[in-house]
Amino acid sequence: MIELKSVAHTYSGTQAIKFRDWKINNGEQWLLLGGSGSGKTTLLHILTGILKPEIGKVFIEDTSIYELTSRKLDQFRGRHIGIIFQRPHLIKSLTIAENLILAQTFAGLKTDQERVTEVLASLDIDHKMHAYPATLSQGQLQRVSIARAVVNRPALLIADEPTSSLDDKNAFAVLDLLLQQSGLNQATLVVATHDKRVKDAFTNTYELI
Ligand code: ADP
Ligand code: MG
Repeated sequence: MIELKSVAHTYSGTQAIKFRDWKINNGEQWLLLGGSGSGKTTLLHILTGILKPEIGKVFIEDTSIYELTSRKLDQFRGRHIGIIFQRPHLIKSLTIAENLILAQTFAGLKTDQERVTEVLASLDIDHKMHAYPATLSQGQLQRVSIARAVVNRPALLIADEPTSSLDDKNAFAVLDLLLQQSGLNQATLVVATHDKRVKDAFTNTYELI
């Protein structure tokens, strides 16, 4: 369960962005809708422990996440939250498998090569395990980003505009993968988008205005 309570944030020199209270139950799949500049990325950063809001609290289960020490918060994020950014950013000097192993290490977990292989296989990209990011297509890199986000079996899977730079066919394919992976890993899913094409795939929506 994730709960947003009385949260508002102000960047210096801008108007405050207020967020409605929001309760997300475990396993639910949500779409976070809003136009460009409405605060979607800000809200995802607040939800995932990257940005402490000026006002309000964020609870994940019973933990008020901004009351953790920053070291604890980093570890908490690594273990419980998987994030897929708009553009994949992998470490270029590491292979695909090594990038996923690094995600395990960052979370303070033991290396689990079997899990790495399993996740890559579930996304049909295991044949690229020993390849370097620069040799993969955008679509393949998007799959690797999803694999890296789910490798530690996060309770919460977050994607920030994962479809905005894709054509219809690829946009729906990526959404299918996110929905499938959240089901497979029993993870709560929150996908931010301004892309109305994807609205019908979700039953729950939180809209920013
Ligand atoms: P979205 O992801 O919906 O496009 P953002 O959360 O990125 O919206 O931005 C919300 C608002 O906050 C915008 O007006 C944006 O210009 C502003 N903003 C975002 N990040 C910063 C920042 N680091 N410093 C100042 N203003 C910011
Ligand atoms: Mg954004």
